[in-house]
Amino acid sequence: TKYIFITGGVLSGLGKGITTASIGKILQARGYRVTAIKIDPYLNVDAGTMNPFQHGEVFVTFDGGETDLDLGHYERFLDIEVPKYHNITSGQVYYTVIRRERKGKYLGQTVQLIPHVTEEVKRRILLVTKREKPDIVLIEIGGTVGDYEGLPFLEAARQMRLEMPNDVLFVHVALVPILSTTGELKTKPLQHSVAELRRVGIQPDIIIARSPKPLDEQTRRKISLFTNVSLDAVYTSYDVDTIYKVPLVLEEQGLGRYILNKLGLAQVEPKLDDW
Ligand code: ADP
Repeated sequence: TKYIFITGGVLSGLGKGITTASIGKILQARGYRVTAIKIDPYLNVDAGTMNPFQHGEVFVTFDGGETDLDLGHYERFLDIEVPKYHNITSGQVYYTVIRRERKGKYLGQTVQLIPHVTEEVKRRILLVTKREKPDIVLIEIGGTVGDYEGLPFLEAARQMRLEMPNDVLFVHVALVPILSTTGELKTKPLQHSVAELRRVGIQPDIIIARSPKPLDEQTRRKISLFTNVSLDAVYTSYDVDTIYKVPLVLEEQGLGRYILNKLGLAQVEPKLDDW
């Protein structure tokens, strides 16, 4: 099983969920069995107690989970049913660790963020593999890189890469805005968010810029140079009139081929005609 972590930079609500679902779609279109997990670093145990005006719809899974709306994107894009344990929150992780501590499961040990919390994060991710045996698991890390709450999850992801160097890929999605006065594409916020990722030991393999329009070659070169990601790994999810075009936009830039190549998976022609 291969794991693709999706992180976000600069600000939230930028299209990470749609990007994750879209990456899933273009891989699924090649015949791979794909599923997705959403990590939410907040301390709520689930999304059911949060204000939908702040967080968007609460997506209720078939097994009764009150989860983040991104699980709805995964279901609609991938035409799969996602069980509730595909939404991992800090609340769930800490709750489990503390309950286990009270039961004496860690007797004699000092219970710490590393390794106890990070091990619990990894256990929950690997549970999906154990139960469902997919070819590829997408793991979207909610929030923005640099948030304190997200750190244990990034650390768990970093460890997974260390443990399975050929099976783990990092995709970073970040905003590249256009300055209204000059019409210029600005890459500095993206550069800073990648620097933040590298500070916690993660070098992204792929950059997906969220931008109002496709990036020109010069802008892509700049991103490549400053983020230490090769030029052919810099993609754009530019604004489209319907989100269901995002998989096509990424596919036409060659993202599917690139990912399979990086993960050492067989190249298959995608079937996206009926999408
Ligand atoms: P996040 O997961 O980063 O919070 P979402 O994936 O939920 O963000 O997307 C936020 C909003 O941006 C959604 O309303 C979605 O429709 C829109 N969006 C995402 N990507 C694109 C795109 N390429 N073109 C137009 N709208 C997009």
